[in-house]
Amino acid sequence: MMEKGLLVVISGPSGAGKGTVYQKVIERTGMMRSVSVTTRKPRPGEIDGVNYFFKTEEQYQQMIAAGEFLETAEVYKNYYGTPKAPVYENLDKGNDVLFEVDVHGARSIKKQYPEAITVFLMTPDFETLSERLRGRGTESEESLKTRLGAAKRELGKYEMFDYIVFNDTVEQAVEDVTDIIRAEKRRIKNNLSVIKKLLEQ
Ligand code: ADP
Ligand code: 5GP
Repeated sequence: MMEKGLLVVISGPSGAGKGTVYQKVIERTGMMRSVSVTTRKPRPGEIDGVNYFFKTEEQYQQMIAAGEFLETAEVYKNYYGTPKAPVYENLDKGNDVLFEVDVHGARSIKKQYPEAITVFLMTPDFETLSERLRGRGTESEESLKTRLGAAKRELGKYEMFDYIVFNDTVEQAVEDVTDIIRAEKRRIKNNLSVIKKLLEQ
């Protein structure tokens, strides 16, 4: 018997640095990324099965009906969801899987898979969050206000998270997330088959 892999979720408000930290943690640890399913059309250069699994709305609805998603959301009139099967296959093979999702997504994943390890990524303060969102240049003033308001409500959901990491420097935040993963892998409950095997010798 092999130990199951860990399912780790990086979540937090828009602008906290999820995408930035996620990419670095993947590079450093070689963890598997979860490929989402979407009904939006592929952008130039996007590859089916790599960036997303691209589906029609009808196919997507069939997947919902068949209970094939860990979580699903409607974003800007398109559907996005995390398919269960590839994630569970990886976990069963002992591979660790890393997710980057918003706070709603993190809640849905934890509900479906309570062993998930959830990390709330946050800037050291709200001013920094505002500066980084502005610096990214992707948001209008209006959308910035909406996102800052949402950030406070999202932090208010702290009880559903296992860990909080403050993204002061990217290096430190990546170090913190990898430390968490390393410690989780050393938990007794994540090493039972190895321990039992040793005891049998
Ligand atoms: P999210 O995915 O949570 O919305 P991003 O990864 O897009 O956040 O980060 C938001 C912006 O902040 C980006 O412009 C990114 O380059 C920048 N950023 C992320 N982490 C840091 C950091 N530690 N220090 C300075 N800038 C950062
Ligand atoms: P884009 O169309 O630009 O690739 O993504 C649009 C939005 O959908 C982003 O905010 C992204 O985080 C979100 N998204 C992508 N995949 C998923 C998913 O599987 N589940 C959820 N809940 N959101 C997703």
